[in-house]
Amino acid sequence: MLQFLLFITCYINLGAWSPWTTAYPDHVKEIKGNTLLFKSGKSLIYNDKKEKTTQELLDSPDIEDQLHYTYNQGVAKKNTDAGRIRNDDFFKEIYGKSAADVQANLTTVTWCPTLVNQKIQFSKVNGASNALIKVSNELDQHPEWKKYLSNIGGTFNWRVISGTTRLSAHSFGITIDINVAYSNYWQWDCGCKNEDAVLGYKNKIPMGIVAIFEKHGFIWGGRWKHYDTMHFEYRPEFFVP
Ligand SMILES: [Zn+2]
Repeated sequence: MLQFLLFITCYINLGAWSPWTTAYPDHVKEIKGNTLLFKSGKSLIYNDKKEKTTQELLDSPDIEDQLHYTYNQGVAKKNTDAGRIRNDDFFKEIYGKSAADVQANLTTVTWCPTLVNQKIQFSKVNGASNALIKVSNELDQHPEWKKYLSNIGGTFNWRVISGTTRLSAHSFGITIDINVAYSNYWQWDCGCKNEDAVLGYKNKIPMGIVAIFEKHGFIWGGRWKHYDTMHFEYRPEFFVP
């Protein structure tokens, strides 16, 4: 009965609450009707009510489409692409509209100071760099994972995703690629860029590393059907209870 009442209460309050206001509290004001309103005054269409193919979800997502797939923690592999669907205008509004804008919001993080001690750049917006520091401090206690954490593949890089016109999450300074030498990427394995290609699955990254990133709000590209196992991306909206 209590659970039922809680459910009803949450349901009634849905107008005010959304994962977006919880995950981006400094930027997202509210979802009102069919619009996401930012505190800056900018607004974006929340739900365009269009039925989309997998490719259309990637190419022209509204805000709601970004949560089309649920991010499944605790399984080695799940055959969806939760987090790969990104509305560029949403991330531009949060982290910066151009390379220069994003760059102005970057701070230097000393990655795994004891094990690796590499200086990397990360966005300080919305708690992203603070979350990365927490990940780094925990991973730094695990010398057995040093080879995966050394020689960081990259963080900030304003660029499109290989084979597409869509901006990479690296453009916003919220993403880290760990050691490329121990990573797998679907395009390397299939020798293709075709989203519809029949894909296998490969991963060498220990799940303990993944668990620490996820604990602090990062999704892992190794959970994607289109896998990218070096790739960790700060996406707190997927961890809102
Ligand atoms: Zn990446």
